[in-house]
Amino acid sequence: MTFRDFGFAPALLEGLDAIGFETPTPVQEQAIPPILEGKDVIACAQTGTGKTAAYLLPVINHIIDSPNKGVDTLVICPTRELAIQVDQQIEVLAYFTGIGSIAIYGGRDGHSMEQEKKALRSGADIIVATPGRLKAHIQMGYVDFSTVRHFILDEADRMLDMGFVGDIMQIMHQLPPKRQNLLFSATMPPRIRKFALGFMHDPVEVNIAIAKPAEGIVQLAYLVQDAHKKRLILELLKGKQGEDRRIIIFAGTRKNVGELARALKQKGFRAEAVSSDLPQEKREEVLLDFRNLKTPIIVATDVLSRGIDIQGIDLVINYDVPGDAEDYVHRIGRTARADATGMAITLIGPSSWRKFEQIEALMGMEVKKLQPPVAEWGFDPAQRSGRSGRGRGSRSGGRRSRRRSGRNRTGQNRNRGRTRKHDRPRAKD
Ligand code: AMP
Repeated sequence: MTFRDFGFAPALLEGLDAIGFETPTPVQEQAIPPILEGKDVIACAQTGTGKTAAYLLPVINHIIDSPNKGVDTLVICPTRELAIQVDQQIEVLAYFTGIGSIAIYGGRDGHSMEQEKKALRSGADIIVATPGRLKAHIQMGYVDFSTVRHFILDEADRMLDMGFVGDIMQIMHQLPPKRQNLLFSATMPPRIRKFALGFMHDPVEVNIAIAKPAEGIVQLAYLVQDAHKKRLILELLKGKQGEDRRIIIFAGTRKNVGELARALKQKGFRAEAVSSDLPQEKREEVLLDFRNLKTPIIVATDVLSRGIDIQGIDLVINYDVPGDAEDYVHRIGRTARADATGMAITLIGPSSWRKFEQIEALMGMEVKKLQPPVAEWGFDPAQRSGRSGRGRGSRSGGRRSRRRSGRNRTGQNRNRGRTRKHDRPRAKD
């Protein structure tokens, strides 16, 4: 499949060619057709899947096909960083179309509010905004959203986590009831679906589903301070030495792999490290020793999480929470292969708690949490701080970012009303 199969306007295809997008990503393949048909869409897709272009491309195409007089599209994002990024993608994708956008986000001085006000008054095809800041503009009475045809919520789960529901509802009151609603979210817990179904009409659901772990795997997780993870591993392995059980311990970095393997050997465990540092020949040798139980414990980076098929692995331990749900499923899938049952234990430190929550949400299941045998090693997630991105240091939206993003002084995308064919656009992220 190519982008041409969607029947996009030539000016949009030209932009796609220029930035080198050749084939649609899975979320684009699934979400673009129903969006082009004008349907409401709920999509579960993480950052990195191409979800931004999945909603921007059909919307931009619609504006090209049937131009609108006022503000056509409103995109709401949880953070100013994402708002800037989405606005930059519009600039790149719509480069040859003459369609323009404005980014509206807080954390800047009063002067920038004035600039945004001017930009809002002079209008734009697409507005990308954070909820709080947009609500502040709406309350001043000069925002006219009566012409909006597309309403998009990006990273909806984060927005709900950050307590933006009230702001979003107020913004929605300003929009015409007849409009297309699109909701994108990295996770799809029931509360997000309930929220979406509250204002959507017969939505099409798109799910870039990840494989679920095999049923036979018993999953457990320990809430443990990072400084005590090594001790906890030694404790968990105590008594398992003579049992001839195959155990794989996954760590996130080569450094952690090396350190942990050394610590285990020092305590008398028959353990070896496997990471990309190890020459292929040596790696094969270690795996052979693992298969024949000469070395029953392997400590590895994700080089081993995919593909290897060794029968009879009894236990997988995640010393570090893996980068994403896909990696988690691959790692723990090393156990319980071909109907055997196995166990997967994950050590969750305070800094990886949120990441693990996302993994659970993507798998649609909750993993049982345990406290370590020594009370001081553990931590209580209820007491962790700084969960949301709110209140982070402010970022200047002044001259520098204007220059970088090719904007005029009111913050408007300079593309508006113009088609420039001279320079090539560049992907910004
Ligand atoms: P997103 O998930 O929207 O944050 O996109 C992740 C990255 O993928 C961004 O850098 C996009 O520019 C890039 N991207 C999106 N769609 C495509 C595509 N079809 N081909 C190549 N890169 C893409």
